[in-house]
Amino acid sequence: MQPTVTSHSCNAAGVLQGELQSGTRRKHLQRSSQTSRPPGHLHLLDQDYLGQAAFMLSKVGTWNFDIFLFDRLTNGNSLVTLVIHLFNISGLIHHFQLDVVKLHRFLSMVQEDYHSQNPYHNAIHAADVTQAMYCYLKEPKLAEHLSPLDVFLGLMAAAAHDVDHPGVNQPFLIKTRHHLASLYQNTSVLESHHWRSTVGMLRESGLLTHLPADVTQDVEQQLGSLILATDISRQNEFLLTFREHLDHQDLDLQLAEHRHFILQIALKCADVCNPCRIWKLSRQWSERVCEEFYRQGDLEKRFDLEISPLCDQQADSVSAIQIGFISYIVEPLFEEWQRFTEPSLLSRTMMDHLNHNKTCWSRIRSPNESRGRTSKDGKYMK
Ligand SMILES: [Zn+2]
Repeated sequence: MQPTVTSHSCNAAGVLQGELQSGTRRKHLQRSSQTSRPPGHLHLLDQDYLGQAAFMLSKVGTWNFDIFLFDRLTNGNSLVTLVIHLFNISGLIHHFQLDVVKLHRFLSMVQEDYHSQNPYHNAIHAADVTQAMYCYLKEPKLAEHLSPLDVFLGLMAAAAHDVDHPGVNQPFLIKTRHHLASLYQNTSVLESHHWRSTVGMLRESGLLTHLPADVTQDVEQQLGSLILATDISRQNEFLLTFREHLDHQDLDLQLAEHRHFILQIALKCADVCNPCRIWKLSRQWSERVCEEFYRQGDLEKRFDLEISPLCDQQADSVSAIQIGFISYIVEPLFEEWQRFTEPSLLSRTMMDHLNHNKTCWSRIRSPNESRGRTSKDGKYMK
């Protein structure tokens, strides 16, 4: 049965759009005041926490990096602080002759356009994905082949991949006739919005204005291709192509096209790597993503819309959602990633955590619960 929209819910669409947009509008006001800070205020860290945050950054390439702690130590500026640090140690600021003030302005815009009221799709998730992406870019199989542009694109795409996420999924935007759904013709609605927003902020910040126009255009296009690859409904398409390449052993990382494909896969892995983290961190992410699903379910109930799969707090437990998510999305992808890395120490570590976390969720799950559910088209929501 297709989701139905009653006349009541059609009337509700305007109200919902208002609710979903209000945060963004407010943030634009905040942004204009924040970005006007003089460069002397670049270091926002309180002195007491500065040393601890700096110490954490010295271990930024380790897999048990606690992004929640880092966000607290940086007073909610984890994304800006992390990305500037990664750009620095990767030599990107020097290589592309980036103006640090413009870089800070751009990253502040991106961070501010994430909705801090979203339990999951907020700037901490973006920082977490960026940190994971950095770890993947350092993989021995990949690192030696990557150009500075590849690293730049990988980190930028990770940082901005969910910017201005409204905290509800694409089916919700379609059934409430949100303007973004019609703008992007019901296809990769959120991802298209994340990409176009990123391009808008890039241009507004002037970060790349010193580069030739064809380079800037290429950056914008490649960022789009990377961000659009995070659309979970395209999971099988990417997984099958990845598997085929590995079966035929025909990936040639000297080719820009193949490196771009691996960057897409790496970003997809980084985006869904929560179950591969240590249990203490993984569990927090699981609770956050389910809380966001449940909030969507509550909104749907409130406006007499059919409750989306996985969004019913009464029927869909965190453990069941996580077991399904791991089994259908995360495991198949990371099994191939492990093959690609041949397998690296990091890949083995991630698979160990994944297996451990799945067992933990199975133990938590009560015996009378139903099995993990997929959405109508068989795909997991994320
Ligand atoms: Zn994401």
